[in-house]
Amino acid sequence: MIQHVRPAARRPSVAVRVGQVSVGGDAPVVVQSMTNTDTADAVATAKQVADLARAGSELVRITVNTPEAAAAVPRIRERLDMMGVDVPLIGDFHYNGHQLLAREPACAEALAKYRINPGNVGFGKKKDTQFAAIVDIAQRYARPVRIGANWGSLDQAMVATLMDENHARAEPWDAAHVAREALIRSALDSALRAEELGMPRERIILSCKVSGVQELIAVYRDLGARCDYALHLGLTEAGMGSKGIVASAAALSVLLQEGIGDTIRISLTPEPGESRTREVIVAQELLQTMGLRAFTPLVTACPGCGRTTSTLFQELAKTVQEHVRAKMPEWRIKYDGVENLTLAVMGCVVNGPGESKHADIGISLPGTGEAPAAPVFIDGQKAQTLRGEHIAQEFVAIVEDYVAKKYAARGA
Ligand code: SF4
Repeated sequence: MIQHVRPAARRPSVAVRVGQVSVGGDAPVVVQSMTNTDTADAVATAKQVADLARAGSELVRITVNTPEAAAAVPRIRERLDMMGVDVPLIGDFHYNGHQLLAREPACAEALAKYRINPGNVGFGKKKDTQFAAIVDIAQRYARPVRIGANWGSLDQAMVATLMDENHARAEPWDAAHVAREALIRSALDSALRAEELGMPRERIILSCKVSGVQELIAVYRDLGARCDYALHLGLTEAGMGSKGIVASAAALSVLLQEGIGDTIRISLTPEPGESRTREVIVAQELLQTMGLRAFTPLVTACPGCGRTTSTLFQELAKTVQEHVRAKMPEWRIKYDGVENLTLAVMGCVVNGPGESKHADIGISLPGTGEAPAAPVFIDGQKAQTLRGEHIAQEFVAIVEDYVAKKYAARGA
């Protein structure tokens, strides 16, 4: 009998409310994303936020870097509300967040959470006062903060302090260990400071992002063991295309398997012209393939080989995956549990019937030399055989019929 490897129990963390979304505690791991539009362009930013939210992003972060961007935030919120998109907006602040939030109360009000980078919230004597100013505003509006340290903007004063401490050690750490400690201490010390200023733990989320897979795993294991704040997880500057996806999945899956991480972002660099929503789909697929959450029915498909000489097999797999993804906004409203549907599109008789029987609905297309017939399996049993030129449409119709019959209509 196959022993399934289950993720470890989630690391205990303090639950935080970000708008209507719960992060940490018993809440499922939350998917978030970030826009790349100029926030001052309220129309373009609202549209991209809506696209990300409709793709499944449960929180969306936007850059707030200038007075114009801060002034646009309430307009973005209004536009989203008019579109019926209630996704919470997170403001990403660096250097001047204390000024922007103070000068634009409507911006402070429209945002559901403020992200503070302890490495560049202020420098020298100004650091503490500027950090305190943002915490004070967050307190006034009862908003949570994410204290997000980042490898690329490490608190240099912290690094210098830790270097001095390290020189005094009988067995000094290597430079990478000191840098990891600086990142973690920067986040933890800032969180402690926020608490001293009156911020409850229920309004603090931490992150310590780095761009290397092994470094991220080491940092979060250490950070997770040293606190019970909710943690935002992500590989920063993951990169483009398959590199960014593989690196993010490699790092995040190890940590999620160990129960570490309450909200994730996949920081992909889009290919020119590519939709920003890819990072949301990758985050969902990562959580779903790990068995942590279900968002959209997933299609199991074999890779194809020399037994599949026509393109019918690839076309059908693509058609079915695109169909279920396109139907999900409607199905999610109508059918309870439909996100757990499993489908298989297989290329030949070798593994086709077997894999199809493991899915709710599967089809085994004819490989080279096989009779031109495609058996369809439903709930593990052969149900019918499709032939001819309209296999794709007929299989999609079978899927539609199955969904309508199997999943209880919501509210029925
Ligand atoms: S199921 Fe058939 S077509 Fe698909 S990879 Fe295996 S042998 Fe090749």
